Amino acid sequence: MTATAGPAARLTVALTFDHDAISSEVSRGHGPVLISRGEFGPRVGVPRILDLLARHRIAATFFVPGHTLATFPDSVAAIAAGGHELACHGWAHEDLAALDPAAEREVMVRSFEAIGAAAGAPPAGFRAPYWSLSPRTLEIAEELGLRYDSSLMADDVRLYRVRRGDRHDVSRSILGEPGGLVEVPISWALDDWPHFEPGDRGVGPMSAPSKVEEIWLAELRYAWEHEPGGVLTITMHPEAIGRGHRIAMLERFIEAAAGLDGVVFDRIVEHWARGSAPQP
Ligand SMILES: [Zn+2]
Repeated sequence: MTATAGPAARLTVALTFDHDAISSEVSRGHGPVLISRGEFGPRVGVPRILDLLARHRIAATFFVPGHTLATFPDSVAAIAAGGHELACHGWAHEDLAALDPAAEREVMVRSFEAIGAAAGAPPAGFRAPYWSLSPRTLEIAEELGLRYDSSLMADDVRLYRVRRGDRHDVSRSILGEPGGLVEVPISWALDDWPHFEPGDRGVGPMSAPSKVEEIWLAELRYAWEHEPGGVLTITMHPEAIGRGHRIAMLERFIEAAAGLDGVVFDRIVEHWARGSAPQP
């Protein structure tokens, strides 16, 4: 069911979903209300997303915390059965920068092994929960054999190799050399969460879908016109995008992108299968 995507694709759109479910709420000790907000993901959001993707014959990438895999195995199995990529996203949605080195490594190894067992093959991808990395995280990811990260913002639609050994000082930063891990860059502007979800007490701005649609379509059209061969990566969360007014916007975005000549949708991992990504 993977959308046809050859090396000549003018623009690839990677729809990615962080299937956090209740992992971050549990790890932060939140109560039943916020846990229920997370539960909307596997209960309502994911079925709607899978139906939408199937109707448009799109294969996508899902970053799945180990806690979601262990708590909602049927949801993750349905994602895998739909032909979608499973990738790593911590265990209980930890802030990896806040862990000591041993705990961080344990989380990375445990989630890598769990996603590999669920997918039937070692995962290729990693995205940091909260997009929060310690200086060690991506080196651990590379050691585990992961091929790409999707947590950094140094580019928008061009994949690039993650540097190793940067040394930062307020007088001058010394930039290291590119390593083996490839970055699939992200942006908060292309993330549903900061647009749509309020803070923990229900306060804060909640954008109308029309605002998000305007931003995402402008990014899409700019990349399509000016960055041939690029990869536009959209980050979404089932508990956020799965609400009716928002998933209707996602469908309009998909239809607009599909109407542009040479746009394809694909799982991130397919870039290596096609040989169109930097080879680690
Ligand atoms: Zn997340």
